[in-house]
Amino acid sequence: MSSRTNDVYLVIGGSGFLGRHVVQALLARGDAVSVFDIVQRYHDTPFYMGDISEEEQVSDALRKSGATCIIHTASPLHGLDDPALYWKVNVDGTQSVINAAVACGVPKLVYTSSAGVVFNGSNLIDVDDRIPQPEKAMDPYNESKAKAEEIVLAANGKGGLYTVALRPAGIFGPGDRQLITGLLQTWQRGQSHFQIGDNTNLFDWTYVGNCAYAHLLAADKLGPPNPKEIARLKEELKVALPS
Ligand code: NAD
Repeated sequence: MSSRTNDVYLVIGGSGFLGRHVVQALLARGDAVSVFDIVQRYHDTPFYMGDISEEEQVSDALRKSGATCIIHTASPLHGLDDPALYWKVNVDGTQSVINAAVACGVPKLVYTSSAGVVFNGSNLIDVDDRIPQPEKAMDPYNESKAKAEEIVLAANGKGGLYTVALRPAGIFGPGDRQLITGLLQTWQRGQSHFQIGDNTNLFDWTYVGNCAYAHLLAADKLGPPNPKEIARLKEELKVALPS
């Protein structure tokens, strides 16, 4: 586990499955952390009730919490039949988080994207983050996550804000309300009697604690470009990175 930092964290979506693990990891290493969410489920940190699509509510929480680092994990659940909600929260809401961060002088934003933003329906083997997004997203959820990721990365280095986006695949572990519940419902509906496909499709799973830890490491590393580090990475990866 990395050690305590001087940052003050606002975890947006901190009442959710992944967000809660991020909060717990920050508390465990002694960091100052507050939560912003539309629902309150825990009472061990300062809590700001609000909707990210309301910029003033985000700004208010940033000012009151004194945050220097935002970890933005909020999103409606995958699988809803509501494209407008996905766009409102994931795209407009993420834009308002960026605007509020710049207006309040917050220097760091870590965004939880999704591996689904590059999924085109076929197995992706040995790919990394250089793979382009498919022309057509799998569904409105992934379309909104891809657009949100795009605006987060475009905001990097502007107005004193540094940004990073992480793309977890399926997340499992304690507190999950989606994955195991969904599998159980499939079984209860008797849908497990039929197999679709030949059972050789690949899928990545990440333990929620590891995913939360990746968010902390990303936050710790975030900041103005370090020319020495860029030169080292260029050499190591043999790729052209922006200077
Ligand atoms: P979750 O539903 O458990 O948590 C999301 C949280 O966001 C909830 O507490 C919810 O109340 C909050 N929220 C929703 N709309 C909001 C709004 N308008 N303003 C403020 N808060 C709002 O979901 P999760 O599984 O913890 O997912 C966290 C993040 O990880 C999401 O961005 C999701 O897209 C991403 N992700 C999840 C998985 C997975 O397998 N669970 C995989 C890849 C990416």
